[in-house]
Amino acid sequence: MTPSKITMSNGQLNVPDCPVIPFIEGDGIGPDVWSASKMVLDAAIEKTYGGKKKIEWKEILAGEKAFNKTGEWLPAETMNIAREYLVSIKGPLTTPVGGGIRSLNVAMRQELDLYVCLRPVKWYKGVPSPVLHPENVNFVIFRENTEDIYAGIEFEAGSENAKKLLHFLTDELGAGKKIRFPETSAFGIKPVSKEGSVRLIRAAIEYALAQKAPSVTLVHKGNIMKYTEGAFKIWGYELAEREFGDQVYTWGQWENAKKTQGEDAANAKLKNAEAQGKLIIKDVIADNFLQQILLSPKDYSVIATLNLNGDYISDAAAAAVGGIGISPGANINYNTGHAVFEATHGTAPRFANTNTMNPSSLLLSGVMMLEYLGWHEAAQNIEEALAVTIKRKRVTIDFYNLMHDATLLKTSEFALEIIKNLKG
Ligand code: NAD
Repeated sequence: MTPSKITMSNGQLNVPDCPVIPFIEGDGIGPDVWSASKMVLDAAIEKTYGGKKKIEWKEILAGEKAFNKTGEWLPAETMNIAREYLVSIKGPLTTPVGGGIRSLNVAMRQELDLYVCLRPVKWYKGVPSPVLHPENVNFVIFRENTEDIYAGIEFEAGSENAKKLLHFLTDELGAGKKIRFPETSAFGIKPVSKEGSVRLIRAAIEYALAQKAPSVTLVHKGNIMKYTEGAFKIWGYELAEREFGDQVYTWGQWENAKKTQGEDAANAKLKNAEAQGKLIIKDVIADNFLQQILLSPKDYSVIATLNLNGDYISDAAAAAVGGIGISPGANINYNTGHAVFEATHGTAPRFANTNTMNPSSLLLSGVMMLEYLGWHEAAQNIEEALAVTIKRKRVTIDFYNLMHDATLLKTSEFALEIIKNLKG
């Protein structure tokens, strides 16, 4: 097998049997969780495909390792390789403090225009959870990844730019009176575009249709931020009706039916659409949604939301199924094919090189990557082996502390245990 690049043509990913995939091992606990994850990924591919498929890993540098070797936190070469090879995977990276460097993760997302942050939230039997029925928590979150308050347009209180902006808001836009303490205010700008919202919501709807999911929920704070978050909802409903027609039924349509035909008729239409297996597009206010994750998780399936909401929601939902130690993530541009799969936790520097932390977040990100490549059988093999390992209570310290009669394993031992449970 000759290693070669993954390419994209006519909207389709072309994956050779031996793709070259760049990896960033990450800082802090990154090397421990990466080596464990890589070991399981390689073994699963080997066992599942009997040697007919293989990943050729290619290391690229970012974070402290890059800084120590090259003097740069995110070398241009790293970005060039990630761009060229389309699909990559990374461990957690330190966010440099001071020195004007923003988060390396945010920088990578912006530079590759990875507009979807994809966070599946699913419970594995036996994982300690603070909720009564974690088996009801099964979401896939599509978080917009390039806009919103994360665009990084902020002006420090008292700075020249803050003063200029205050003048502009006061003199040109007549909005000065809305600012409670103008002289000591810092400012942040929240850009939310129709294009950015629509491409994110389209990806969520396409995913939901492909997976035969019952609904897509648009989560927003449109009650307060009408022209940003409120527009996100409106653009979402318009898009669903315009591009997906008969395959979907929206709460926007339900509202219209209620106005013109009365509530009973509207409810009957909604029921009918559900019975026909149509994808229901609905919306919920973000604060209510954070309640619903705990009170009524069964009502939700695929979630589409803005950047900041998505950040909060992803971790809150992850907590219900065992926390960030087991929650995977990916950043994807479905148009160009670029994707970076990543652990959702940080570098936990206190535990660096202890070989004690849970590698499941990065490993399951690798599983998402295998799904993205179309290597579903290997992905399923790992998921099942991980589930068996957890059910047998052979786990790392985070789960061990919360389980009765569990066996404590090191990071690498946990990986070997999963490998033992692989089929093939
Ligand atoms: P963290 O996620 O690194 O650690 C918080 C706590 O979570 C740890 O003390 C540990 O108890 C637990 N934890 C984290 N990962 C675990 C694992 N795999 N298994 C078991 N327990 C685990 O968050 P932090 O301390 O706020 O951040 C440390 C550094 O990581 C900072 O520099 C931060 O900027 C960075 N960070 C990076 C990413 C990323 O690269 N995606 C994400 C978050 C934070």
